Amino acid sequence: MKDEAFDLLVRGGKVVTGARIAEADVGISSGLVSAVGRGLNAEAERTIDATGTYVLPGILDVHTHPVYLDDLKDLSITAAHGGVTTLIHYAYARPGESLAETVHRFREEGESGSLLDFALHGGLFDPENQAGEIPAVFRDGVTSFKMFMTYAKLGWMTDDYQLMRTLDIVARAGGLGVVHAENGLATDYLEDRALAEGRDPKEAFVDTRPAILEAEAIHRAIAIARVAGCPLYIPHMTAALGIEVVAAARANGFRVYAETCPQYLTLTREDLLKQGPVLKIGPPLRGEEDRCALWRALADGLLDTVASDHAPKEKRNDDPFFEAPYGSPQVETMLALVFDEGVRNKWISLPRLVRTMSENPARIFGLYPKKGALLPGSDADLTIFDPVHRHTITHATQHSRAPYTAYEGRRCVGKPILSIQRGEILIEEGRLVARTGRGRFHPTAAGRAELNELA
Ligand SMILES: [Zn+2]
Repeated sequence: MKDEAFDLLVRGGKVVTGARIAEADVGISSGLVSAVGRGLNAEAERTIDATGTYVLPGILDVHTHPVYLDDLKDLSITAAHGGVTTLIHYAYARPGESLAETVHRFREEGESGSLLDFALHGGLFDPENQAGEIPAVFRDGVTSFKMFMTYAKLGWMTDDYQLMRTLDIVARAGGLGVVHAENGLATDYLEDRALAEGRDPKEAFVDTRPAILEAEAIHRAIAIARVAGCPLYIPHMTAALGIEVVAAARANGFRVYAETCPQYLTLTREDLLKQGPVLKIGPPLRGEEDRCALWRALADGLLDTVASDHAPKEKRNDDPFFEAPYGSPQVETMLALVFDEGVRNKWISLPRLVRTMSENPARIFGLYPKKGALLPGSDADLTIFDPVHRHTITHATQHSRAPYTAYEGRRCVGKPILSIQRGEILIEEGRLVARTGRGRFHPTAAGRAELNELA
């Protein structure tokens, strides 16, 4: 007896969820997962032999910036090559711009050019003039809103008055606050002092942005968010001191979600000193102790997500360090690096990787179980991962428009080899086989996940 017929059958792989690894086939019909189980016995238009590989729910990257060297289309292509199937981009409204118009512009760009399904965060550079648009934007399916507590000199910093007011507005709408947490005025002073003293900007960089000023801003943001009754998401956590602050708030039952990035898990200040501007990112790369603390926090469930902060800028390692912009290309290397460094070195299990890179981000932003799961009825978004594939990361292997990678020459074991979204194969044998513009916009419902669902 044959079961129902599938459009696509992924047979013989090990299916990984946030809880376990089990040999199972995945049957896909009409873009959805229709069955998961051992020895599915059905006709299929196409069968993929996944023997020897892991079959993961597609990776979500909830922290990307498609406004630099990679536009929204480029970013979706480089992400897909890295095993990512869903992106949540930051739609930043610059001073003088309307938040609603910015969000519409990003959505249109995504619907016409994105290879991958996507959602959006609102970003406010000027909350005084933009926060009033939050309820309208919220109704269009954008439910998480980011502000900066740093970059005062660049004119991007939100002061505590506007942070309190904006988180109050976000809370009333039922959404999620997001902050880049560093004390921007204190770090600006430290930078000015280091420059006045004639210190080498690269050597001084980390000293001007110490971890305790990150922890202070996290604490202040949490305090303000608690008063507002607004759940909070802290992107790009870098340090043990910050994790302690998050842990204390969570112990009191406050919904604060925490993210780190592959660069903080795999690189340190020593790499910055060797390489230079290409590794100039904010918050900065820190020491080995903090790097290890991040892995322990991921393993313990104190950090909920890994996301890339993909922001490739035009710069070279021999540029003057002080003038170089912040940011680096990260989305394509993220999964392979977290597997190689995290799973192979036994910092985290493979189910924990799936939890932090697929399940938790989908839950936190309200896309679960459509995304982040391989349950009957979930979107058929799959990343097939070969755990023994040996490769070396070089600029030439990457699909970003950045003229460099942060990991030149790094050897890795394990690579995503095939990506499927809504039942359609996107990347096969390293080649893009689907058309861009197929990606769909997904409204989010951010900030409603209970902490015990994530741990
Ligand atoms: Zn970012």
